[in-house]
Amino acid sequence: MTKLAMSLVIVLALAGAAASQQAQQAPADLGHLRQIIPGHYVYTLNNNNRLFNSGILATNDGVLVFDALEFEAVARAERQAIADTIKQPVRYLVMSVFHDPFNGASAVYADVFKIAHENYRVGLIDQMQRGNVPADVQRMRMPGATYRDRMTFYLGGKEIQLLHFGNAHTKGDTVLFVPQDRIVYMSEVFFNEEFPNMAGGYGVSWVKVLDTVRALDADIFIPGHGPIPDDPKQTRAALDRARQILVDARDGVQSQIAQGATEDQAVAAVKLDQYSKLFAFGNQREVVLRRIYKELKGTLQ
Ligand SMILES: [Zn+2]
Repeated sequence: MTKLAMSLVIVLALAGAAASQQAQQAPADLGHLRQIIPGHYVYTLNNNNRLFNSGILATNDGVLVFDALEFEAVARAERQAIADTIKQPVRYLVMSVFHDPFNGASAVYADVFKIAHENYRVGLIDQMQRGNVPADVQRMRMPGATYRDRMTFYLGGKEIQLLHFGNAHTKGDTVLFVPQDRIVYMSEVFFNEEFPNMAGGYGVSWVKVLDTVRALDADIFIPGHGPIPDDPKQTRAALDRARQILVDARDGVQSQIAQGATEDQAVAAVKLDQYSKLFAFGNQREVVLRRIYKELKGTLQ
């Protein structure tokens, strides 16, 4: 590479860093706490009309938070809402996906024991190193414990299961299940009323993960993205609709492959027009189809 080309790369990298700094401006509305059922809350951030949900499990022995969300101000506001309403200390942070909209503000939980899937830790380290996150912040964001397939622990007499059923939105997503209360927190494994984002996802495996989640003995499935109905039991039907998007994409690509289609031909043929009104359809349809094509062909990394 010439010196000029090298400087250009550096300038572009700096411009990119400045743009992502700008993107990190906290929204004016820092979010709201809602009780779903006794002992279970969701803190929802509305950022540019997209909803991001963090789960909160409240017990007499303290609180567990599921996903720290993005922006220091938002995470601080969530902790303040917990202090004001639940009046118990936060004991655990369970981090499901390493993407910044869900755990970018995990340093606000520096004082809290953090748990994540082992692939979360790998993904987080890689992302923080590429983002030049300062070493002290990197330390504050790291999980104190990781698990591989499942971890069960107890808080306030309740059994809490952390479950990893395979690749879905990332290689290290955690689904949190409280059997006694028949509730599941799903983070970005569940995009409600949005087209799923698959920039680093695995659509074929994702359907299997959703089938395993649906088989859990539960009534309420909390999405990472999108609204939670007034009657939270309606989330089971919403989860089925989210699954159907992936099934339609998978089956469409599968039938194209059966006819000998190339990746480009499959993308052109599988329209998924029934989902065209969903958020992110415009930029994710092709991403989803291309990754599913490669996954079905066995060439996806
Ligand atoms: Zn994500």
